[in-house]
Amino acid sequence: MSTIALIVAAGRGTRLGSDVPKQYLLLGGKPVLRHAVEAFLGHEAVSALRVVIHQGDRGRHDAALAGLDVLPPVGGGASRQDSVRRGLESLAESPPKRVLIHDAARPFVGHELISRTLAALDRHAGAIPALPVADSLKRVADGVIADHLARDALWRAQTPQAFRYPEILAAHRACPDAGVGDDAQVAARAGLAVAVVAGAEENFKLTEAADLARAERWLTRALPEVVVGNGFDVHRFTAGDHVMLCGIAVPHSAGLEGHSDADVGLHALTDAILGALGDGDIGQHFPPGDARWRDADSTRFLRHACDLVAARGGRIAHLDLTLILERPRIGPHREAMRRRIAEIVGLELERVSIKATTTERLGFLGRGEGIAAQATATVRLPA
Ligand code: MG
Repeated sequence: MSTIALIVAAGRGTRLGSDVPKQYLLLGGKPVLRHAVEAFLGHEAVSALRVVIHQGDRGRHDAALAGLDVLPPVGGGASRQDSVRRGLESLAESPPKRVLIHDAARPFVGHELISRTLAALDRHAGAIPALPVADSLKRVADGVIADHLARDALWRAQTPQAFRYPEILAAHRACPDAGVGDDAQVAARAGLAVAVVAGAEENFKLTEAADLARAERWLTRALPEVVVGNGFDVHRFTAGDHVMLCGIAVPHSAGLEGHSDADVGLHALTDAILGALGDGDIGQHFPPGDARWRDADSTRFLRHACDLVAARGGRIAHLDLTLILERPRIGPHREAMRRRIAEIVGLELERVSIKATTTERLGFLGRGEGIAAQATATVRLPA
């Protein structure tokens, strides 16, 4: 039975305090949208997935979901309901049996939740996860309680909302732009019975800035082990007109000698991450005698180390790098270097530190014969 997941990511929600819509903000080093998409792609019942995006977000969508097997996105409309309808219409040519409609801003949707929502479709045209209301409910007017409401029959609706495809498509077509809150309401207007299954507290929606912090804490809870690694590297100067440092070409009266692009900063960071994992050193993973790494862009070494962390189910928490040199001056390039590393690793900017120091003209570094770098990586791993 074919089941397509439709992820609604067309909103402009920027209440989380960034210019970037919340579904594209990083959470644990990954875009919020990618968390949700991976949850559905990893579920055995889901045969395909499509994201409904804002018209101008194609680049963001493609970057957020790089490497994942998803259908081409479809552009959304002015309202959530309009966006869902466009998503449903886009599937009409080869219609699935069932569709799961999910908010991109709920990154922690679990497989069991998806399974029990789908299972309810055996007996109902639609099903949604929901949670009971724990707090007392009041209707308030002008700052004063106007009424006390019984909460027993009230539930907080979540997504994914699951439907038999032909029925929900017909319901949306029959009820355009009615200003409804969710697809269960669209279904109800069309006379469909929608079942309720148990939701999950962790399947909360990111709405306010505090929700992103809560989501980070939720992720961190699952990674209680903190490991730390250090890395050190030196490259000598040679003839040239620039040095590669932290992925940035810095103009200089010399270059750095090396088999790869000799980016001493990225090499130290790579070794620090490998050190935290207890997984050898950069020379073992990328032997200098191997012609494949001649003049290689060192960002690929750092990315490889990040992939190893991800393969262990872990997450890089912080990177701290000290460049030891007399010249060139680092100050003018420091922020560009931080941004570049944050981008390569998929880390928030405030979790990347770059410092520079000299050796007071002492020793080979003091004589300006080369550049050294020393790095510390903090990595969180599952228990
Ligand atoms: Mg090196």
